Amino acid sequence: MNTIIKIENLRKSYGNISAVKGVSYSVEKGEMFGLVGPDGAGKSTTIRMLTGLLNPDSGNAEILGFNLKTHKNKIKDEIGYLSQRFSLYGDLTIDENIEFFADIHGVKNFKERRNELLDFTRLTPFRDRLADKLSGGMKQKLALACTLIHKPKIIFLDEPTTGVDPVSRRDFWKILSNLLKEEITIFMTTPYLDEAERCNRIALMNNGEIISLDSPKNVKASLKEKIVEIVCSPIRKAYDIIKINTEFEVQMFGDRLNVALQNYDEQLNNLRQLLREAGVEIYDHRIIPPSLENVFIHLINKAL
Ligand code: ADP
Repeated sequence: MNTIIKIENLRKSYGNISAVKGVSYSVEKGEMFGLVGPDGAGKSTTIRMLTGLLNPDSGNAEILGFNLKTHKNKIKDEIGYLSQRFSLYGDLTIDENIEFFADIHGVKNFKERRNELLDFTRLTPFRDRLADKLSGGMKQKLALACTLIHKPKIIFLDEPTTGVDPVSRRDFWKILSNLLKEEITIFMTTPYLDEAERCNRIALMNNGEIISLDSPKNVKASLKEKIVEIVCSPIRKAYDIIKINTEFEVQMFGDRLNVALQNYDEQLNNLRQLLREAGVEIYDHRIIPPSLENVFIHLINKAL
């Protein structure tokens, strides 16, 4: 194990809003680490503290062996940060945007690196196009190229694929996997649980706290309940009945419900009876492996 980010009791409030409540964890070199959680969980605040844009109220972090409090500028030289509000210059071309960021970072002989990055992000054919004329996915790839111009050892990505179409998202993820081969460490936030599945480890953040931290596989395995998927009609009525009359966690996905049961046989019988008595028709039910979403909802409910 080779720790590259060590977070110790990091805390930040805005007035009386406790955005990050004293979290501690480590990220290993070369891993893709995902900070996952609903809006307002404290993910961006965490990233902004780690990238030196925001001072923590208390606690500290060590990044690449440098102390965040005493060596903020040294850290900034070694990392890349793709924020949600990363701004490209719309009236500059792809080439000129990368040159601009090379300049900011004091990268002198940037042309070879720029070619590499354009190649890597498959933007070479468009290099003379103005940033304003690019699709959302291409803009995001260009932003990533700008973030990588100074060869950072760690990149921090704050919801990098939000608002990007599904095809470009896939493309973006391929690029990220290739970055891992170059031993770049990726610390990212995402609201998408399918993206979280691709991370080596994820920290589930809710209300300023880390409520689970492990590989996606282990996070899912930590659920003690069995998830039963029920196909029934009318679905909304079934959902409401379970919500109102039982303690079971229930989620609705299209025409099916996912219900978490601790004592499967007995509880399923009771549940079926309850639904039948209410006039709900059950077409099918089966135990399914828990998804990250199932586990996440469970952990958030438990934390309430
Ligand atoms: P996330 O990135 O998970 O959506 P944030 O870190 O942006 O969460 O926000 C965490 C909490 O802090 C939220 O309740 C949010 O409203 C609040 N918050 C974030 N930034 C500010 C700010 N500049 N001023 C006041 N409150 C803020």
